[in-house]
Amino acid sequence: MNDSLLSAIETLNNKKTAPFCAYIYDLDGIQAHVRQMCQTLPKQTYLFYAIKANPDQRIIKALLPFIHGFEVASIGELLSVRAVSKQVPILFGGPGKKDVELELAIRQKVSYIHVESVLELQRIQILAQKLNEKVNILLRINLRTNALPKTKITMGGIPSPFGLDESDIQRAIAIVKEDPHHLVQIKGFHFHSLSNNVHAAMHAEMVQLYVQKALEWQRLYNLDLQVLNAGGGFGVSYNKAPSFDWQQFTSLLQGSNIWQDIKGIQLFFEPGRYLVADYGFYATEIIDIKKSHQQHFAIVRGGTHHNRLPSSWGHNQPFQLYTSDTWPYTFQRPNFQNIKVNIVGELCTPKDRLHTDAYVSAISVGDIIIFEKSGAYCWTISHHDFLGHPHPAFYYIEGGQVR
Ligand SMILES: *Cc1c(COP(=O)(O)O)cnc(C)c1O
Repeated sequence: MNDSLLSAIETLNNKKTAPFCAYIYDLDGIQAHVRQMCQTLPKQTYLFYAIKANPDQRIIKALLPFIHGFEVASIGELLSVRAVSKQVPILFGGPGKKDVELELAIRQKVSYIHVESVLELQRIQILAQKLNEKVNILLRINLRTNALPKTKITMGGIPSPFGLDESDIQRAIAIVKEDPHHLVQIKGFHFHSLSNNVHAAMHAEMVQLYVQKALEWQRLYNLDLQVLNAGGGFGVSYNKAPSFDWQQFTSLLQGSNIWQDIKGIQLFFEPGRYLVADYGFYATEIIDIKKSHQQHFAIVRGGTHHNRLPSSWGHNQPFQLYTSDTWPYTFQRPNFQNIKVNIVGELCTPKDRLHTDAYVSAISVGDIIIFEKSGAYCWTISHHDFLGHPHPAFYYIEGGQVR
């Protein structure tokens, strides 16, 4: 944990008027990380940010100068990006797109629509005609293969609602070719088969499989292939195992034999988690501690309504303890030493748990638990208003300052 974060928490804790509870996003950290990622990005390769990982406006703004564009999966997300930039490239995806969404996406001049079904393709054709607009699409394909890595979240290579089944490609291409208006054009393919893959070598192999498949379809259907979107899914480890090794991945990719085959084709990546997870912190104060039967519990001002990731994934969210000296009462401050503690939230449900059996050498009421790796899929996936507690504050580290 870096010094600017600890000093930020100290400053904020000294000024607090209510028990401490905040998300802190390290925008400096995000920018440094992405800048470093771009240094080993092979030529012809373009980085997009899938904003569903964290749609915070300040994060979108912080990423804007460093990446090529954004991937969005709803009109809300699309407008969040457009509020920051009128012209940055946007990829519009997601299953179950409605006509109003597709129409607005076309009017907002998204770069590519990821088409997820044959019906969706037909509806886009009608809308393109109505608006008399050219629409560039990538067909999202769910491959019929067992060769994809298996992770906690898998969308491809298995039955899933995402993308067109590989066996539907021919029909989709025929529909586009037979359309006399030629407004909808297939520019390539999109694959996003899994999330949170920590194996760089397997990921590089998967991308090579995508390339092989796309080239096969290009030959078979005589397509003008311009883009291959290999999705996101670079993993972050929530335990002691290492996270995805970007250096290894990009060097394997760079050294692979795909490049002579895909001359003139742009390779896209659209990660969410890997760009932001490590730079978000959910810091929340211990309100009470107790022993119940043979176990110890620390109850924090907050919980899964602010950070649902650990309960959703069934993992222990990693944390650090910030020891606070302030104690406003004359009676003794509750404290435990050398124990295993369950860190739970303020909600009236046993499911409100953030960490089970965490060993701590000392823990007191008033200390602050700083949950790490809380920059992606934490606040945004949570049920914020269940039980009606106040939302956390949001602070940002930018230019070395916290605000
Ligand atoms: C969620 C999603 C992403 C981002 O996935 P990460 O695992 O966060 O990198 C990218 N593309 C699509 C289509 C998605 O649904």
